Amino acid sequence: MYEVILYYKFNEIEDPETFCEEHKAFCKELGVKGRIYIGEEGINGTLGGTPEQVTKYKEHLTTIPGFDGIDFKTDTSEYVPFAKLKCKTRDELVAIHKEGVDPDDGGAYLEPEEWKQVMESEEDYVLIDVRNDYESKIGHFEGAVTPKVENFYEFPDWLEEFENKVDKDKKVLMYCTGGIRCEKFSVLMKEKGWDDVNQLHGGILRYAHEEGGDHYKGKCFVFDDRLVVPVNEDDMDPIAECEITGKPADTYINCANMECNKLFVCSEEGARKMEGCCSEECRQSEYKRPFDPENAFRPFRKWYNYFDEDFKEREVEEKQ
Ligand SMILES: [Zn+2]
Repeated sequence: MYEVILYYKFNEIEDPETFCEEHKAFCKELGVKGRIYIGEEGINGTLGGTPEQVTKYKEHLTTIPGFDGIDFKTDTSEYVPFAKLKCKTRDELVAIHKEGVDPDDGGAYLEPEEWKQVMESEEDYVLIDVRNDYESKIGHFEGAVTPKVENFYEFPDWLEEFENKVDKDKKVLMYCTGGIRCEKFSVLMKEKGWDDVNQLHGGILRYAHEEGGDHYKGKCFVFDDRLVVPVNEDDMDPIAECEITGKPADTYINCANMECNKLFVCSEEGARKMEGCCSEECRQSEYKRPFDPENAFRPFRKWYNYFDEDFKEREVEEKQ
């Protein structure tokens, strides 16, 4: 068994380039794989390795001054769900495309247990899923507003419209996968005038571990090769449908037409029927990869990723 961790810490790094070089060298030596972003505002990462490797990584990171007390969300996996190690600098740890959004001005943390209590109370609140639509589609908290956005940086625009629909004195609850997107988005909501803004500390992943997934429907999308992980082991029924067959499903594939490459919910039956494509048109495309049923659900490593601003550039490169 391997461990997969997801973590972030906002803490000023004066020289991100040097920090990044040293960090990358350490990770390479250790042999972990994953994706780590380092910037002036701190660190944001997800990586996998053996339990020993992960423990050593955590020890290393948390002994760097200012990086103690990190809340690591830990899962186990039968394989390391990353092809390689990517450790690089970035201006924003999570791309909201807005400068000066300081998590210190964000909402209050609700621990998983408190979150559950509020959800079970009679209190009136609005619940916002601060993730992209392809993530919330396969799983979300009961009653959540699920914005129709494909990238995190579309959230500020989304908020411009949402602002007119919900009173500023309403209690706001928000959540994302591991908490980092709420760190930024809660700041924007407070700037807009909501006072009672609350974010799920540690996100869905920590909630799943501590509260077993109560009030959460479906599964959780993750940004590694697993793509989808369970939240509530007692309720594994998919809440989404295969886009080809219309039957319940929550497995994702990228359209086999490399010009399309759309990430879509597809069952095995649907994948066989459309040869891994999202539509008949794509199935006819000259850019279609050969269909291999054995590997149809092995994620093709170039799809939408809120971590990964290089995605679109890379996609164009590979097409040329
Ligand atoms: Zn397609």
